[in-house]
Amino acid sequence: MPDDSLIAALEGVSRIYDGGRISALNSVTLHVRRNEFLVITGPSGSGKSTLLHLLCGLDRPTQGRVLFEGSEPRSSKEWTKLRAKRIGFVFQSFNLLPTLTALENIEVPMFGQVSLRSDRRGRAMELLSGMGLSDRAGQFPSELSGGERQRVAIARAMANNPDILLADEPTGNLDSRSSAEVMKLLFDIQSKSNSTLVIVTHDRDLAKGAERTINIVDGRISQPEAGEETAACTL
Ligand code: ADP
Repeated sequence: MPDDSLIAALEGVSRIYDGGRISALNSVTLHVRRNEFLVITGPSGSGKSTLLHLLCGLDRPTQGRVLFEGSEPRSSKEWTKLRAKRIGFVFQSFNLLPTLTALENIEVPMFGQVSLRSDRRGRAMELLSGMGLSDRAGQFPSELSGGERQRVAIARAMANNPDILLADEPTGNLDSRSSAEVMKLLFDIQSKSNSTLVIVTHDRDLAKGAERTINIVDGRISQPEAGEETAACTL
């Protein structure tokens, strides 16, 4: 019986690159609970981004199972659908489309999900204003500060009301003030919408306020979490 309290899980997952030369993740078991705020920390190169990419099907495991709501998506098409409707992703480098305005960038994920242009526009405006950026709607990414770009990227990730939001070093390219603002926004989103938030960061200070923090070292979870299967972790 699938456990309804879990939204996503890695079970005994390993990811090997370069024909076995690089072991990015090694037998990791991680259960992400619905509505939790989880922070994954660890040094650079320890496997954090690999773990996040596996959780949303942007990468596939060499070994083990990746589950979304208790079942294993079997194809890239299935993962693409999940990412379109259920999973939001925020990248360190923002990944905004440079030729579109802030507002248009947020509208992009709604094509195919929200049929009326006026509805897409209304939702995008609502999200922008929630990020404190209503006056920046018509600006192109190059005209925005790093912190503003990241807030637009968060709004875009939220466009289709995802059940889970994954953020990979969301403050990695920001100064300390913008980092604090972006983290506060992410915390607020999680607490207000009650969605699941998973943030990867090498900055342990950013983990403050998280409900649960796990640490990855050399591709393994360095401490077992209560309820995790310790057999799959190295201690
Ligand atoms: P982190 O996010 O903690 O910095 P990563 O998950 O990006 O770590 O990387 C973990 C290890 O896997 C590193 O040694 C990295 O160089 C390697 N790696 C990640 N992606 C690839 C790839 N596509 N091809 C080869 N090696 C990779």
